[in-house]
Order: sequence, then C-alpha cells, then structure tokens
Amino acid sequence: MSFNRLNVVKKNKRTPKEPTQPTPKEQTPKLPTPKEQTPRLRISKEQTPKQQTPKEQTPSIQTLKSETSEQQPPKEQKRQVNALLIVDVQYDFIDGSLALKNCPSQHQGEHVIPILNKLLNDVHFDVVVYTQDWHTPDHISFYDNLPLRAHLLSKESKPIEELKVFDVAIFEFKYDIRRARVEQILWPIHCVQNTHGAEIHADLKILQSDKISKVYKLLKGNDSDIDSYSAFWDNQKIRETSLHDTLQEHNVTHVFIGGIATDVCVYSTALHSVEYGYKTYIIEDACRGVDENNINLRLDELIARNCSVTQAANVKNLV
Ligand SMILES: [Zn+2]
Repeated sequence: MSFNRLNVVKKNKRTPKEPTQPTPKEQTPKLPTPKEQTPRLRISKEQTPKQQTPKEQTPSIQTLKSETSEQQPPKEQKRQVNALLIVDVQYDFIDGSLALKNCPSQHQGEHVIPILNKLLNDVHFDVVVYTQDWHTPDHISFYDNLPLRAHLLSKESKPIEELKVFDVAIFEFKYDIRRARVEQILWPIHCVQNTHGAEIHADLKILQSDKISKVYKLLKGNDSDIDSYSAFWDNQKIRETSLHDTLQEHNVTHVFIGGIATDVCVYSTALHSVEYGYKTYIIEDACRGVDENNINLRLDELIARNCSVTQAANVKNLV
C-alpha cells in the first residue's frame, strides 16, 4: 500500500501538434536491418552508445538540472539511473481468460515470476514500475462488446457477424480525427477493473518505496474507447500516462522491461521508451508472449530501432 500510484492519464492531447519527441525514424535513420544486427543474446553494455542517453537528446532535462547545478555539476548528469518496468503480470494473462498458454505461443506466463523476483532481489533499480491492464467492462478491446460499437465499424472492417475473437476490427470515430481509423484486435474479456483477473499475481515480489528505490504502480487501458498496450501512451497516441514524467523526475537514463506480453504490451512500451531516448533493454527471458512468430518480428523491429535485448543474468552487469 505504500507505493505510489501514478495517474493513468496525464493529459489529453487535444492540439493537433505532434508530440515533440523525435520519431524512431529520426532517431535511427541509418540502422542496419535486423538481420545485420548482432545476435540478441550478445547485447552487452559496451554496445550502449553514450549519445543514446536522454540527457543528450532532450535539453529540457538539463534545464531542470540547472537549478541544482551549483551543488552537483556535470558528474550527476552522467550517472546512469535505472528503471525496471514490470508489465502486466496479471492473473488473466497467466491462468485466466487471456492466458498465454491458450494462445499460439502456449507460453506459461507464470514463468516470468521467479525470474523477475530474482532480479528484484539481486539488482538495485532506482525506479520500479508495475503496470496493470485495467479495463472498464465496456472496453473496446473485448470481442463481447462488439455490439456496443457496431455503428462504429468501418466499411473496411469485416462485418460484425464474421468477426471472431483475435480478429482485427476497424472502427471509425467520425467525430474525432485522431481516431478516424482504429484497428483493434478483439480480445477475450480480460483484466476488468477490480476483478481477480486484473490483479498482479500474488507470487510476484512487490517492492516498497524506500531511500534506495522508488516504486510505482501504473494502471493503463482504462479508457473505454481506446486500448493501451504501452505504459507510456494509448494505442492512438492521444493520451499520455505520467510514466515519462515520473522517469524524468528521477533522471532515469536506462529502462529495463520484463513481463507480459512480449509481442504486445512489452513491445509497445519498449517502442515508446526508445522514442523518448531512454537506453532500453528488453529482458527476453523475463517476458512471455502471445505468438512466437510475432515475438521474433517485434524483437527484431525493436533491435532495428536501437532497443537492446538481453537476458536476466546479464542485467546486473548493465546497471
Ligand atoms: Zn487489455
């Protein structure tokens, strides 16, 4: 009970202006294709280019630091500050309605728990964030709720009578240009707010904030009409959570990510972490996913965008 709860929604981006962070393409214009990358397992600290830290990409951080620059000049600015994001280790993804073992991967979601617990025991992270998918009962991502939004189905979409669970429906929110075309995977009902399925698995170690580590919980996906895979943004990139601000508050430079599901929420969170300029690591063996082929595609895509993929045993050497 003593950890901090992040506000899910920080602000509603109503202005058409694009977010100020650079797009991934702008960050990594000349990256080799994934096949040209070194194998994932060989990602090491030495491969971390110093210019990847957010401090050198976002002058605003330096501005913030200028107030205290007299006490702690440049030395403080170069310190590596590490955050661990533990994504959606919730019952519904482990043995509930959207259990990975019933997905194409047939992964056992609970296998991430001992790996994450060992990391939490053995490695000091400056910031730890536990995320939870946290949907309203009428959420757009639930197949069962299709009739509620039948009038929003695009002509491009399969008709309602042909759509099945795990299909992609295309919705049109005509009154909102930012959601003029929304592709939505139709999931089984999962992680409904205040249900057992939405709870974090009891075997996962939950740290408490102390002088060494700051610990937060982040609820996402609680807007009925927009899904939110990433812990930073909703799927339409309309509303941002407070995660980035929180990481900035603590001067985080390096973000490590584990949890569920590799090819969905872990992937999306990592993508936005890289976009924000954090040196980002996916801890591959601390993640489980929905579909093996998709997992490989997503990891290759992230590597091409300068995200690193590592294993839990290597993390201690990276922080
Ligand atoms: Zn969800």
